[in-house]
Amino acid sequence: MPPNALDKTTIFSIYSKTVDEKKITVFPTRFIIPAGTPEKPSSLVVGPSSWWKEIHESDQLLEIPQHSAMMAKSIVDDYCSGIFGYIPGISEPGLFWIPGELTVAEAKKQHGALFQQAEQRQREWYLRLVQAADSLWSRTNMSPSAISDDMRRAARELKLDTKEWLTNFQAVELTKCVACGSARNPAFPVCPTCKHVDKAKAKELGLAFAE
Ligand SMILES: [Zn+2]
Repeated sequence: MPPNALDKTTIFSIYSKTVDEKKITVFPTRFIIPAGTPEKPSSLVVGPSSWWKEIHESDQLLEIPQHSAMMAKSIVDDYCSGIFGYIPGISEPGLFWIPGELTVAEAKKQHGALFQQAEQRQREWYLRLVQAADSLWSRTNMSPSAISDDMRRAARELKLDTKEWLTNFQAVELTKCVACGSARNPAFPVCPTCKHVDKAKAKELGLAFAE
């Protein structure tokens, strides 16, 4: 089926990470949206795509064309769907699309509000990530491995550079609590799960606990 050359949609990104989405059932199969910022957004123009549907009890495949706007929506939605803290339209990476082929300058001039809204939603997402990181940090007794790359990026974007979990990068090897078997940070004498006290560690730190 000849694709409609006029059917274009532009995806814009103010998200500081490259999006690389593969879709094995459609052609083209790979979509790369470069990293962007609110000051310097990036863009990707997508055209219509096709996917193939098996026809019942035959070897034939039926080609189902998909408009460029549908493609843009599915690229962004599929990328976001697995992300921690994602709430569509409320808390999400700064990705959105506008029908037609537009440059960043044209889009900013004609649809400036969309960029501002995307920035607000991304900020909301960053705040949620930082909140989650704060809670994970204390619940895991300061284990850097509990903090995801997205959480670190969120804190940097919000200029919260003094977050303890952002600066404290020494890798901590978690060990198993001898009493309950759950993972714990050996640098601290009390198991966060069952409150068992590692007496050797407590002694090393000069801490006394009631027997
Ligand atoms: Zn324990």
